[in-house]
Amino acid sequence: MKIILAEYRGFCYGVKRAIETAYACIGQGPVYTLGPIIHNPQLVQRLSEQGVVMANTLEQIPAGRVIIRSHGVGPEVYDQARARSLEVVDATCPHVRKAQQAARQLAEKGYYVAVVGEPNHPEVKSIVAWAGERVTVVETPADAQNLPYHEQLGVVAQTTFASDQFNTIVDILKTKCREIEVSRTICTATDQRQQAAIKLARKVDVMVVVGGKNSANTSRLAELCRLQGCPTYHVETAQELKIDWFTGVQTVGITAGASTPDWIIEEVYSKMQEFDQLLDQDMKPLEPGVILKGRVVGVRKDEVFVDIGHKGEGVIPLTELAYPVPENASDVVSEGDEIDVYVLAPEGDDGPVKLSKVKADNIVAWEKLQAAAQANETVTGKVTAVVKGGLAVSLYGVRGFVPASQVAVQHVADLTPYVGQTLELLPIEIDQAKQKIVLSRRKVLEQEQQRRAEELFSRLAEGQIVTGTVSRIADFGVFVDLGGVDGLIHISDLSWHRVKNPTEVVNIGDEVQVFVQKVDPKAKRISLSLKRVQRDPWYDVVEGLREGMTVAGKVTKLAKFGAFVEVKPGVEGLVHLSELADRRVASAQEVVEVGQTVTVKILGIDKENKRISLSIAQAQQDAERADYQRFLSQESNTLGVTIGEKFGHLFGRKG
Ligand code: SF4
Repeated sequence: MKIILAEYRGFCYGVKRAIETAYACIGQGPVYTLGPIIHNPQLVQRLSEQGVVMANTLEQIPAGRVIIRSHGVGPEVYDQARARSLEVVDATCPHVRKAQQAARQLAEKGYYVAVVGEPNHPEVKSIVAWAGERVTVVETPADAQNLPYHEQLGVVAQTTFASDQFNTIVDILKTKCREIEVSRTICTATDQRQQAAIKLARKVDVMVVVGGKNSANTSRLAELCRLQGCPTYHVETAQELKIDWFTGVQTVGITAGASTPDWIIEEVYSKMQEFDQLLDQDMKPLEPGVILKGRVVGVRKDEVFVDIGHKGEGVIPLTELAYPVPENASDVVSEGDEIDVYVLAPEGDDGPVKLSKVKADNIVAWEKLQAAAQANETVTGKVTAVVKGGLAVSLYGVRGFVPASQVAVQHVADLTPYVGQTLELLPIEIDQAKQKIVLSRRKVLEQEQQRRAEELFSRLAEGQIVTGTVSRIADFGVFVDLGGVDGLIHISDLSWHRVKNPTEVVNIGDEVQVFVQKVDPKAKRISLSLKRVQRDPWYDVVEGLREGMTVAGKVTKLAKFGAFVEVKPGVEGLVHLSELADRRVASAQEVVEVGQTVTVKILGIDKENKRISLSIAQAQQDAERADYQRFLSQESNTLGVTIGEKFGHLFGRKG
């Protein structure tokens, strides 16, 4: 069967424009169409699922935007929309707009206006509204005949009106007036579709016209095709097509109205191709060895009847239904099941077509496995048993083998739990002659791991905080699974406190939030920190310390440049050499030793760099100044020393 598409079919310019306008409004607040955007229920439904809702009247629209569809509306609708503070998105087709303006201008010039079209069509109503009071609709030559005489007659056409019919009506109208002005506002899109449909209908056996049943231009296309003497079916969707319409048909034509989306035309075309194959199949004599698709139409205990789209039904004996042979055919198939069948013998004197499901499954299985192996695609298999060296699996009804080393990424000691599981497997060796199918689950898991790693590395960035699960603990740190890839928290990054063993902080299986310190996609390394998602206790501890304060501390370490003094547990400051004593000091050992308790003055706290600078010398001077103050408040002359003798050095240095 030859299927021919009409040269001009489907969406016209105006409809396409209206639909694009509607799609452009999606997601921009409430949006409504005044009436269906086009006469196609399937597309109206699609749009409404995306928030473009149809309203029948402006009163039904509470607020937002209103789309004027390609058919256009009368001037009063714009006024009403404005009065209701609705934003108008005008998708009136420019051709319709032209017809509306022609009607208005003719009326303004004093012509009585005749709109040639269907009175109830929304476009005609909109044109009439622009013509004012002196207007009528003429649909048929009879209407034209009945029109009273007018001095001046202005004629405007519905854009989708058939041009032949329009000419006939105009000829009659010429006899009904003294002066006539004709505005031929028929749109070429309509004309093109109509002429293409007529041309096609004249050369094919059957026409299929696709489009909404409420679409005037689609119905008109169907009518024109019928007028050519061609059996014509008007359908809205592919589901309405019936195979019987095409029995014995050599050529079929398809056309579609201006409001029919391409996807519906494509569905109709595909469905007809399917019919073509089925009809072809039906015509050809069946050959043994052919594989067909069939539908189970009857199940007895020991045989199954299958509709294979051929005259008569085929039968599958129980022994050909499955392997091992089931006790009852209903254990394997049910009525309505779609199955593959292998023709064992065509119908003959000894009975109907004999079929085998076992053979078909086997052939189809090998084809599928070969195709999967070639395309490096996975297949699904069910583990039936643990066998020597691995697992036996069933794939599409044939038996395959998964070696133990290919079951998982890590070695699996006990394979028994896999029995009964359905696994995704990659064929690694297929040899039909030797009936050998070797598969790997390990490769599937590795590929999956790699895919997840790539995906993770592509979205992971330094500085992020992510959630993971502790997967492994080592002496030097903890591995955290971030979704298929492990990152490492070094032991020093586990806590702000000193950690001797990572298990002091986490256990395997713990869910943790971690800070991403470094990502190295090349080396596939991710460095994480647990302590950086926690508040640094250093800040809490230094909370009570102030610059200028004098505190006691313990010397913890001596360095070339000074001595470290712990002023609070875990918080150390540095006493620089120059601040160790009130004299020149060459090394810290001259003044202090590790473990010694000293009094220090806090010179500065650098929170950003977590540094505290201390001074022993200034602490001593402060203490001596305090002594001096005390001394002044007593009677100094009773001490037997002069002030200069006791405190003279304090005046040589600024504290
Ligand atoms: S058929 Fe013509 S007038 Fe009507 S919407 Fe399409 S392009 Fe516009």
